[in-house]
Amino acid sequence: MCFLRSIYNFLFFSGLSLLSCTLYSQEGPYIFLLIGDGMDDSQIAIAEYYYEELGGLESFARMHDRSSAVIEGYDLGDGLRTYVSDSANTATTLASGVVTRRRMIGREPNNQDIESLLAIAKSHQLGTAIITTSSLTDATPAAFYAHAYHRDCEGPDYLRYELTETTQPCVNDSIARGGMGSIAEQAILYGPDLLLGGGMEFFDQQSETDPEISLIELAHQNDIDVISNLGAPGHAYSRVLGIFAEEHLPVTMTSDIYPPADFIRRQGGLNILPEVYSCIDNPQFMETPRLSEMTQYALDYLDQSQGFLMMIESASIDKQAHDRNACGSIGELGQLEETLALILDFASTHEQTYIIVTADHSHAAQVIPDIDSDAAFISPGQIARVRLPNDNLITINYATSDEPESEEHTGSMVPVFGYQIELPAMMRQRDIFPLLKEIIISHP
Ligand SMILES: [Zn+2]
Repeated sequence: MCFLRSIYNFLFFSGLSLLSCTLYSQEGPYIFLLIGDGMDDSQIAIAEYYYEELGGLESFARMHDRSSAVIEGYDLGDGLRTYVSDSANTATTLASGVVTRRRMIGREPNNQDIESLLAIAKSHQLGTAIITTSSLTDATPAAFYAHAYHRDCEGPDYLRYELTETTQPCVNDSIARGGMGSIAEQAILYGPDLLLGGGMEFFDQQSETDPEISLIELAHQNDIDVISNLGAPGHAYSRVLGIFAEEHLPVTMTSDIYPPADFIRRQGGLNILPEVYSCIDNPQFMETPRLSEMTQYALDYLDQSQGFLMMIESASIDKQAHDRNACGSIGELGQLEETLALILDFASTHEQTYIIVTADHSHAAQVIPDIDSDAAFISPGQIARVRLPNDNLITINYATSDEPESEEHTGSMVPVFGYQIELPAMMRQRDIFPLLKEIIISHP
């Protein structure tokens, strides 16, 4: 709360109260980077259609500015330009402004560590938080606090005896060889003030720093409070690690049939279409904290006079699109909308609030016309036929892979929404980082 503005409002509660707090106070900045993993315009449209009767994605519509960003990246093996990226290289681009190789975390293409927004925010004494619905060691959050050759090097065991072909190069990053250790170990040693998400399976492994203790015990040794449910924030420790699931957090919504998308089959000259279904609350979600609840916890926890940087990710828009579960993606986009509404409420009383909402890469889902049973031409992909709350039907096509639960990312541009951040009509993903860095370093 801006104390000086309160006095000013008390004295002059007329129109003069609209004068900016920035004239009187050095509070903030409050920087929010919201990432919808795999949230391209097609995913946004599907969620907007679903929630249309309930007001739609109202918070997205309240953002000040809108752009589209081109995704850039290189192949991990040969280093050549690639036009379809993954969360590791794109989150690294968002976090650090470099274009790098797929699968790499916080590294330049030559495998050198690169400074992230989180490190810059810390060096400017801002509070820091990373909040995600995935494992805390997953690629997007990891790119903001860790450095690794490969995104799969999540836990210490992956750098010791559970080596695979992809994690073998991570051995060079092990603490025993003078590296910074697994991604989970780096979360403990170098992470933000607040880490909220999933991934206990990586934190209950034995530490590289001291193989006699787990990473959870290492967290306690490093003055970190480890919590498994959201209570009132306490400050008995200097940092908080909140882990609410063994793996990724369960999604809020799912389909009431399996598989949620299927091929159209030909029989006797007719098309046999997959069944129409409705979205239901996911019974596995239960007591899982919502993304907005974790964000509220962070707002309550961080010292607002200090200013802060928060990276908030709705991770499973992507993961559910890989599984062709349209309802799963819709519900997770709904979580992002709900969280953005909360942040815009915060912004209404905190003038120094700056928000970017974007995606790391695009994904497979496309809205197509529903198909007649006697249509001569049909989609070769798998389709989901979802009944919307207004009883209309939407048909979503997935056609980038014929493997079970392995739909692919795509190379479309991703949306960028700005609040108090001016955006050009079109940009490259690497251009987002300098906008946020400038806010951090220019603030007194
Ligand atoms: Zn993905």
